[in-house]
Amino acid sequence: MNFELVRGMRDVIGPEAKSQRKFEEMSSLILDRLGYQEVKLPSIEYYDLLAAKAGEELLDSLYEFEDRGGRKVALTPELTASAARLYTMKLRDLPKPVKIWYVGPCFRYDEPQKGRYRQFTQLGVEVYGSSSPLADAEVAYVSSRLLRAVGIKAYLKVGNISFMRSLLEGSGVRGRDLSKAIREIDHGRYEDVMGLLNEDGKKMLKEMVDSPESRSDLDRWEGVAKDRFPSAYEGLRRLRQVLVMMRAMDPQLEVKVDVAFARGIAYYTDFIFEAVVPGTEGSLLGGGRYDNLISDLGGPATPAVGFAVGVDRVALSMSPVAETKQVLVVAIDDQSLEKAARAFGILSNADVRVELLPGVVPIREALERALKGSYQKLVIAGAREGPDRFAIRDMKAHEQVEASEASLLRQLGFGEVGRS
Ligand code: AMP
Repeated sequence: MNFELVRGMRDVIGPEAKSQRKFEEMSSLILDRLGYQEVKLPSIEYYDLLAAKAGEELLDSLYEFEDRGGRKVALTPELTASAARLYTMKLRDLPKPVKIWYVGPCFRYDEPQKGRYRQFTQLGVEVYGSSSPLADAEVAYVSSRLLRAVGIKAYLKVGNISFMRSLLEGSGVRGRDLSKAIREIDHGRYEDVMGLLNEDGKKMLKEMVDSPESRSDLDRWEGVAKDRFPSAYEGLRRLRQVLVMMRAMDPQLEVKVDVAFARGIAYYTDFIFEAVVPGTEGSLLGGGRYDNLISDLGGPATPAVGFAVGVDRVALSMSPVAETKQVLVVAIDDQSLEKAARAFGILSNADVRVELLPGVVPIREALERALKGSYQKLVIAGAREGPDRFAIRDMKAHEQVEASEASLLRQLGFGEVGRS
């Protein structure tokens, strides 16, 4: 039997699993309050659905296979396409906008490294049926709200895909070359794109590469786009509106405009954004507007905007969730096993943080385990105290008192809560 992990897969344990769950729980509370409906999506979809608009990079990393019925299927590399399918099949007749969220596993045959795995979890948020810049602002704001809820200080990098697209199209770059170039830009490989551009385009891209600050100068690039790239001009003007509304929602929001920003996933049509923690590699989340995806998949024309956050990466950026241990229950002789079981039941029913040491454990070992495990109290079930009575050891104060079963909770300092 081989107990090695499949390359690129990993087990998530202890504090990291706890951080992931905390982020998912906090997000669920916030999204519910903000009127987003949860949906659960499958991890297997038809290959064609995923292939339709994902773009080559995602396609190259698909886990694809034929199921036993001979269908060509794949594990979901992200969930926006599945959510769009769900919208088209089941939600399209609801009053607009339709707001949903989901969390689920994603699979990409990527080169594994820290924060990049072949199976990871995405939590996604989508708004269907609104083309208003207010919807873009809401979605971007919500993304930062979720990160803030778990104490992550990230800034949002925002842009509009139409600028880079226009720059490339202005040089005659089309079709597959265009999506390839956008991917290179997404990876920051601007040099690889230079060769595709005409003199005018080269000059602009060079300026953005040489002086990264110039990329946030909306006035400058709006001026440049005005005569040459009408769609980029519109895109930047729209970006300006989105920014105003994002700042209205959260005046403290840290936002960096980057006109030379592009996202490699092929379905984005307008506003795009990412959340970045300064000093770390890669983004925590990414999203944007994708107004053609649903109609491209055969659904009704539906403007849409959303984002997906990498739950694994968020957990890596969170401070560990503090462990609090309260009570350890132990039986120190054979006759007291049932008494220990009763104490455990009483405490657990009263929602006390209580753990049981199964089996008979000698008192010295029990004390050592309680001390090493940082429990506040040790409940000792032993024959010496008599039937229905326990010794309670305060591990910090090194004091010991006795309690009957009826007074156990009170003696432990949990008031008069009784067995429910
Ligand atoms: P994307 O779907 O590529 O826009 O990615 C959205 C977010 O998912 C990223 O910002 C990451 O947090 C996360 N993510 C994407 N790919 C991976 C991966 N291979 N491993 C872990 N997280 C990932």
